[in-house]
Amino acid sequence: MPAFICTACGAQFTPSEAPPAACPICEDERQYVNWKGQTWLTPQQMAGRCKLVWRDDLGIPGIGIEPSFAIGQRALLLREPDGCVMWDCIPLASAEAINHVRSIGGLAAIAVSHPHYYGAIADWSEAFGGVPVYLHADDREWITRPHPSIRTWTGDSHRLSDDVLLLRTGGHFDGATVLHWRAGAEGKGALLTGDVATVAADRRSVSFMYSYPNYIPLNAAAIRRIADAIAPLSFDRIYGAWWGRNIATDAKSAFAASVRRYLAAIS
Ligand SMILES: [Zn+2]
Ligand SMILES: [Zn+2]
Repeated sequence: MPAFICTACGAQFTPSEAPPAACPICEDERQYVNWKGQTWLTPQQMAGRCKLVWRDDLGIPGIGIEPSFAIGQRALLLREPDGCVMWDCIPLASAEAINHVRSIGGLAAIAVSHPHYYGAIADWSEAFGGVPVYLHADDREWITRPHPSIRTWTGDSHRLSDDVLLLRTGGHFDGATVLHWRAGAEGKGALLTGDVATVAADRRSVSFMYSYPNYIPLNAAAIRRIADAIAPLSFDRIYGAWWGRNIATDAKSAFAASVRRYLAAIS
């Protein structure tokens, strides 16, 4: 039975004979249902239309999909001594992409910022012997393919290693998470934000939304909570959700200035 993939958000569902009746992630006010109606692909159909590609994104190996699919997801691979941590996930796994990941050390764990990037977490975990997938427990209602490798974590932070820390900021989702990589940016530290804080087109600032496609902003209390969660961290670089959407240097002050700008705009 195929694990049907929603074409609008890229979420994979529990394998079934027929496609699910609806995609709860797309019916939520933060997303939208395909204008032509809900559509699905099996992984095999998707592999016939798209291919997985990998390249360096400002010093971190990444995997994406061409042509762009669903939200344009790309995964980043942080090299750790015991294998890579995959940050955010893509809707498909292919033998070639799995081999590529194996060639750069394999996977030790997967961590995802929020439900829009859960994608094919189960397939990627299984490809590497069932490595743990860390998702914040406050978003567990959005898991569309429950799997034994999923480890939900609670509270405001969860450490994966000396260098890798998950922080729940909330905002876009209750369990919205960013990843702090102490070894990133040549040891100056990097913050991987998905679109919990999204890198703006100028690549010198970030912005925040409850819903990006439906333009629903966050209130001041949510912005301050995100800022407070980030404040103790040292970092020089921010990696956003898409290829090249990164702030290359001086990102900590860019983040603080972005928070001030946002709060001024909504006050
Ligand atoms: Zn969907
Ligand atoms: Zn999102």
